[in-house]
Amino acid sequence: MSIRQLPDTLINQIAAGEVVERPASVVKELVENALDAGARRVDIDLEEGGVRLIRIRDDGNGIAADELPLAVSRHATSKIASLDDLEGVTTLGFRGEALPSIASVSRFALSSRRIGEDRGAVLEIDGGRVGDVVPKPHPQGTTVEVRDLFFNVPARRKFLKAERTELGHIEEWLRQLALARPDVELRVSHNGKPTRRWKGEGDLVEVGLSDLRIGEALGEEFARNALRVDHSGAGLRLHGWIAQPSYNRASADQQYFYVNGRAVRDRSVAHAVKQAYADVLFHGRQPAYVLFLELDPRRVDVNVHPAKHEVRFRDARLIHDFVYRTLNDALAETRAGSLPSAQA
Ligand code: ADP
Ligand code: MG
Repeated sequence: MSIRQLPDTLINQIAAGEVVERPASVVKELVENALDAGARRVDIDLEEGGVRLIRIRDDGNGIAADELPLAVSRHATSKIASLDDLEGVTTLGFRGEALPSIASVSRFALSSRRIGEDRGAVLEIDGGRVGDVVPKPHPQGTTVEVRDLFFNVPARRKFLKAERTELGHIEEWLRQLALARPDVELRVSHNGKPTRRWKGEGDLVEVGLSDLRIGEALGEEFARNALRVDHSGAGLRLHGWIAQPSYNRASADQQYFYVNGRAVRDRSVAHAVKQAYADVLFHGRQPAYVLFLELDPRRVDVNVHPAKHEVRFRDARLIHDFVYRTLNDALAETRAGSLPSAQA
């Protein structure tokens, strides 16, 4: 076979393989876009575990009608313009891949009205076939509709699980986003019924991490047993909650770690936490925590994986030790405090 250039739709479908694993990945990408656009409220409507419909509406800055085609073009983004921007990126998105990927494997509609403009517009894409921009009333902000995910990719569709399972994955992603952004209201409905409402709690800087949302997200028992952590040094800040050793889990299901507001998995950090708990947890039991690491974005590379689940730290060892020492000190205080009663 001779070498040929692949058509755009196929290129997008290939990229979708990395970014869009299941309905939950669509929800994650779209809610992240809403947050990047400064939304104060995001409505998430789902049908059949998100397979039949995912509709995400936000009240953010919106997209200008003449930029709708760009928004769904590959490698088109408003979030970075240079390598320098990339290295200091503070938005959740920056690859310009999510919308074209999602649009190539679904029946897709992007409606929006840009802040300051008096008319909205919609652009529809059916399995990668891009329509025209059509005027359409829309409040300020953006609505993305994704219907029949993977309708044109049977191999992918086959791997989708039962409605409840897909919904569970979506709820877990939303919990992860909600923990980081207690200032934003999230309303979720499934098959026409409201299923969850994360109330927005004012200004993020003002409320900081909200005790209320921690209870909502991880349960009252976690909240009651959580120690507040907030420690800074060497240009790093680690803050959040860690559960006292008496509250522990059979699995790692309540371990949330964020770098500059982005939920990530990091082996080295997970190891540091484990070490800090080593003396105080029974073998095989897992600690529970919600921890936020803040540092200069230039000290961390977020462009490691298309789905951005991982990051690479410039000084991984330093961060490992910082996390270990912060948690070890916090846990040592509880140990000291609980000694007398433990001996009694
Ligand atoms: P990225 O988020 O990496 O830039 P996307 O494909 O997710 O790439 O989105 C492409 C562009 O479309 C964004 O850079 C942004 O300008 C615009 N966009 C997407 N979703 C929204 C939204 N909900 N509100 C405002 N603009 C959006
Ligand atoms: Mg995005």
